Amino acid sequence: MTFSKLNSDGVMLFEQPFARVPYENYRKVFRTSQKNIEKEMGAVQTAANELAKRPDADADATLKAIDGMIARVDGLKRKLSDMQETSGSPTLGVMRERFQHLAAVENVESLTAPEFTRWADVRLDRWLVDWCLRNGKEKTARMIATQKGIEKLVDIDLFSDIRRIEDGLTRRSCTEALTWCSENKQALRKLKNTLEFDLRLQEYIELARVGKAQEAMAYSKKHLLSWQETHHDQIIQVATLLAVPPARAFGPYKRLYDLGRWNTLIQSFRLAIYHLSTLPTEPLLHLAMYAGLASLKLPACYGHETRNVDCPVCQPDLGTLAREAPFSHHVNSTIVCRISGKIMGADNMPLAFRNGQVYSREALEEMAARNDGYVVDPRDPGERQKFSELRKVFIS
Ligand SMILES: [Zn+2]
Repeated sequence: MTFSKLNSDGVMLFEQPFARVPYENYRKVFRTSQKNIEKEMGAVQTAANELAKRPDADADATLKAIDGMIARVDGLKRKLSDMQETSGSPTLGVMRERFQHLAAVENVESLTAPEFTRWADVRLDRWLVDWCLRNGKEKTARMIATQKGIEKLVDIDLFSDIRRIEDGLTRRSCTEALTWCSENKQALRKLKNTLEFDLRLQEYIELARVGKAQEAMAYSKKHLLSWQETHHDQIIQVATLLAVPPARAFGPYKRLYDLGRWNTLIQSFRLAIYHLSTLPTEPLLHLAMYAGLASLKLPACYGHETRNVDCPVCQPDLGTLAREAPFSHHVNSTIVCRISGKIMGADNMPLAFRNGQVYSREALEEMAARNDGYVVDPRDPGERQKFSELRKVFIS
């Protein structure tokens, strides 16, 4: 019975990004709205102050200024309601649906309940979509999402964004990635992430590569110098890069000109966006499978003649996946009492002496009954204590 009880906390361990991704999206909508309000209302305030300073202005000019203010506020109102309609409400809808999906688990009593099976099926579909999206199979991901009706439960948009920005980097353009950085400036700063600097540095290197020294210097002044506090040495080093054209580059300069840096940028970007959304760097499907595989994995799974056809870890594909997972500690599936030779378990609990030696409750109870409530460790006769002071041992 205890095995089939659903551990909903354990289930939730996997679900943080599921709740977090739409939340981050909504936060972005909120922040953009706030910026717009500050900008427009600031302008209205300034115009009002100007007007107040000129009480003797003629009526036409005053009217014009007031009309201008009204137009601004109207524009702001339109912009905000557009934003709420195109991004705000849909994102709230996604959040609502996801929380409902998670809340459904709370009411499930046992792992064998049919509603849990249905819930787990949806979860598996979500994880399959996640796997497809991370492996560039967007079409398949969309197909599964539509067929199963789980569009709001998967992050297709997020991964489309990732792909669009990575495509840019593959074409050796930092534009898309830099826009993303500025949209997420505060969050990246909080994480002490320096992707923006790396991108700026790359744009500078590209200017140096084609010999545009003047432009490179201006670029450095505008975009690199502000990072001086944390990236001083790198900024100094790339300053001399202008004197070393690619054809004559050596050592550190050669490394700066290395086109492989673009791949590193792609990796850094992916890590940054995963980090921001609290998405794990590995597919959720793999993480869930590690947990299952770890409970089955034995050293024998990797032996030549010890493989078992019924064991998932013994199969080559899953075995490869399980390589990272720890070995199960359940090599011996039963613990036998040294005194009685009986198996210890939930109804014949193991009990431990102060010295850590463990025997079954039944055997020790018998011993205590014969010795006025005292028990002695057969392996260490000096170890004598009250039965009631023995510690319970839980097998995990
Ligand atoms: Zn095996």
